[in-house]
Amino acid sequence: MAGSRQKIIVIGAGTLGTATAWNLAVRGADVTLLDQGGIASGSSGRSVGVVGTQHVDDFEILIRTHSLRHIRHWRTCGLDFHAIGYMRLGRDGRDMALLEKSIDLQKAHGITSARLLNPTDIRALVPHMNVEGVAGAIFGSEDGFLDPHQMCTIVSGLVRDLGGSVRQNCRLIAADRRGGGWRLTTSSGIMDCDAVVNAAGAWAPQVARAFGQALHVVAERHQAVTIHLSEPLPYVMPMVMDLVQGGVGTGLNIRHDRPGQLITEIHKVAASAGENPDSYNDQLDEASKEQLAELLLERMPELPGASFGRGWAGLYPKSSDGRPYVGPIDGRDPTVVTVAGAGGYGIQLGPVLGQLAADWLLEGEPASIPEARRLLPTAERNRAPS
Ligand SMILES: Cc1cc2nc3c(=O)[nH]c(=O)nc-3n(C[C@H](O)[C@H](O)[C@H](O)COP(=O)(O)OP(=O)(O)OC[C@H]3O[C@@H](n4cnc5c(N)ncnc54)[C@H](O)[C@@H]3O)c2cc1C
Repeated sequence: MAGSRQKIIVIGAGTLGTATAWNLAVRGADVTLLDQGGIASGSSGRSVGVVGTQHVDDFEILIRTHSLRHIRHWRTCGLDFHAIGYMRLGRDGRDMALLEKSIDLQKAHGITSARLLNPTDIRALVPHMNVEGVAGAIFGSEDGFLDPHQMCTIVSGLVRDLGGSVRQNCRLIAADRRGGGWRLTTSSGIMDCDAVVNAAGAWAPQVARAFGQALHVVAERHQAVTIHLSEPLPYVMPMVMDLVQGGVGTGLNIRHDRPGQLITEIHKVAASAGENPDSYNDQLDEASKEQLAELLLERMPELPGASFGRGWAGLYPKSSDGRPYVGPIDGRDPTVVTVAGAGGYGIQLGPVLGQLAADWLLEGEPASIPEARRLLPTAERNRAPS
């Protein structure tokens, strides 16, 4: 696939698609980014925008360092990043051993800002927290949050500045082979290209079908809500996550949003068969409101005058094994590259996944991070979970 000015169409203007389009445009491709709605109109615009490296797996930390590099660059182009810090709570010895290991892994990747906290340190940073049942935490002071809609808008603007084209309200309807490439039928007319990127999030299985492919992505519904306080907290609440991978934490997460306002979400939900992205309930439901209220009362019992504000639901596009898919589904056909299935981490992973998708298209391999070959949607990974 080597060669300059390949004409590539990226389907989906969420974090994964916009980042892919930018990585391609920077590297000389002729890119068109299209979305059936507006920029970030899918999951990306419904997330809570947290970006962090407090993970317990070497590869997960490695790829996030690449995302952070892109985010640093986009900050010079106007992206706001609020470095409020990220605190991941550990419940027991197992959790704490993993968090301690994370400090070493992060250091090996050049991240020196993470440290372990005991319950007294936790209370010093978040005086409103009830630390009952908490053994300790990891805290990364440089992590934070951003507005994914702003990020996608800025990155799409950069794609335009590089000569690319961005088409909103333009839906892929069908695809036919034409020469060595593709002829796409869209709601805005016919478009020809050499290669395509399926970055359609929870709709990625539908888009894959248009290319004669099968892709397993489950659309898992998650809900978030703002919390209004009767007075601003005298400190900035970092992102607090009550879960270490595979542990017994509740998955409650909560962070500062603006003075007098927090945002909360539950990261861990019961497994489901998945939602239809065209017809799911995109509003916060009463049962989840009650669950969130209970978890908050337990973990943050004395927030001043706390009441729920605007709530919403969105979708985590999840792969079968919880790791994103990047690369061609069919190794013999490198003209269709998939970048999808980022689950609950598509904002923080979008920048690096876009870099890897561009690698596959322009170099035929994940040249910038060879270890990322493991993200290929091979037949073994890309199947319905058993
Ligand atoms: C409540 C909630 C909180 C979250 N919090 C975080 C967080 O704190 N940090 C984090 O990293 N992640 C978070 N996530 C996860 C994150 O939002 C997703 O992983 C990410 O947005 C997925 O991005 P995407 O580009 O794959 O999909 P999307 O953003 O859904 O983009 C796909 C796009 O494809 C378009 N499309 C679909 N079909 C077609 C078609 N036929 N033609 C043209 N366009 C099409 C859609 O309109 C859509 O805009 C959260 C998610 C939710 C729901």
